[in-house]
Amino acid sequence: MPIYDYRCGCGRRFEVIQPVAAAAPPCPDCGGDSAKVPSAPALGGQASAGRSREFMPQTWRGTHDGSREHVTELRREWAQRERLEAKHPELAGDTRPVLAHEGRYHAAPLRAGDPVLRPGGGHGHAHDGAAGARDTPST
Ligand SMILES: [Zn+2]
Repeated sequence: MPIYDYRCGCGRRFEVIQPVAAAAPPCPDCGGDSAKVPSAPALGGQASAGRSREFMPQTWRGTHDGSREHVTELRREWAQRERLEAKHPELAGDTRPVLAHEGRYHAAPLRAGDPVLRPGGGHGHAHDGAAGARDTPST
């Protein structure tokens, strides 16, 4: 038998194991009427970083009942991707979603799975100490 969550007007919340069709039990505290608490759907909690091509529908028909907004949204995403690939040919055929392509990722767009550049890292190899070594402490 499933477990149900009930809440009473007095604030008491309790769980009852009962058959699916059973009526709401009275509150164990005040005997008042309780109401079933709807179980929360499991939320993914993941932010979308944009769809990659393999998740794009290959036809615009039948996408979400032809919802205009949905299709428009997909078209926009697709056009965005096209522009990005025109600018960065190395992205063509790469199905990984592009996470960032502005600022310091302008030259080399960040794709899912790529190592994240450290601030100031610039072009991948460090110049640590090169400038500082020459500096003599002022006395
Ligand atoms: Zn109560």
